[in-house]
Amino acid sequence: MSVKTTNEIDIVKVAQSKIASVDFDNLAFGATFTDHMFVCDFREGKWHKPQIKPYEPFLLDPSAKVFHYGQAIFEGMKAYKDEAGDVWLFRPDQNLDRLNKSAVRMAMPEIPEDIFMSGLHQLIDLEREWVKFGLGNTLYIRPFMIAIGSGVVAAPSTQFRFMIILSPAKAYYSGEVKVLIAEHYSRAANGGIGAAKAAGNYSAQFYPTKLANEKGFQQVIWTDDATHTKLEEAGTMNVFFRINDTLLTAPTSERILDGVTRKSLIALAKREGIKVEERSVLVSELIEGMKDGSLKEIFGAGTAAVVNPIVGFSYQDTYYELPKMADSFALQLKDKLTKIQYKLAEDTFGWTVKI
Ligand SMILES: *Cc1c(COP(=O)(O)O)cnc(C)c1O
Repeated sequence: MSVKTTNEIDIVKVAQSKIASVDFDNLAFGATFTDHMFVCDFREGKWHKPQIKPYEPFLLDPSAKVFHYGQAIFEGMKAYKDEAGDVWLFRPDQNLDRLNKSAVRMAMPEIPEDIFMSGLHQLIDLEREWVKFGLGNTLYIRPFMIAIGSGVVAAPSTQFRFMIILSPAKAYYSGEVKVLIAEHYSRAANGGIGAAKAAGNYSAQFYPTKLANEKGFQQVIWTDDATHTKLEEAGTMNVFFRINDTLLTAPTSERILDGVTRKSLIALAKREGIKVEERSVLVSELIEGMKDGSLKEIFGAGTAAVVNPIVGFSYQDTYYELPKMADSFALQLKDKLTKIQYKLAEDTFGWTVKI
């Protein structure tokens, strides 16, 4: 191991990388991590000196607040390698902005931009061998913050840990996705934490999703909690609908996560001359669209899968199978977006950032 300090980050390197033992052709999503991790603690009202150090487990007091009160938030991003061997991030400013919005909502401290950005850049720079060239190969980046202060008293922690861990990934294939439209359970409510990328939003989804899985559906399409008539998100992705040649998606709100993929696809679709409407889409519109043939596509959008085409949905115990589209908006937009991310197409939006 060698220790050095650059730009205010203490760096401790592993003696020997484990990269040679990793089978990059057979990676299960989110299961393999790189050699190093980034750690920065918040105590006594301030962020302390960040560290990059070997990836390893760490100790927490059993009364740490993250275990009891779920004070935890995260982000999901990716790094890409281009033909020249350079490594690129996609709109990292958007992830920092959202992380800090989540932090405020969960009574956690905001992360200063220099800690987030220099941590991200230096960690990925150190791990650049883990980013493999080729469409579909990415390095999945997981920044997160947890409450590490101890004490089983229901009050916000005063101590937090911000970390970044990295996981090499192949293209994410979900297989055929059939979804169940939620008629009882909700992911989010007005005044709640649905717009924050909070850990608890995910655990709250597990049970209804498990019930859907048991009925043969891979995901739940969440509807608004008050009336269950408006379509809001698909699993942990934003959701798009194509009715005739118009692309529709719910507007962001307190109940909807402001996805980077969502906003990037909207910008790309508009540039391609596709009509986009950000408005509430009703379950009844889908049923009518199935009857008169105007509903062409439904797809989820998020960093992990980019787009996830949905083959059919169930509502009130009736299953509706979507038509097979030769030239789907989902695949056209996915292709346009991934080409920008891999630097195979000109980035006219200025979205990509070099490591
Ligand atoms: C993370 C997330 C998304 C997608 O956001 P991206 O920035 O596109 O990855 C959508 N919905 C929910 C609930 C999420 O947690």
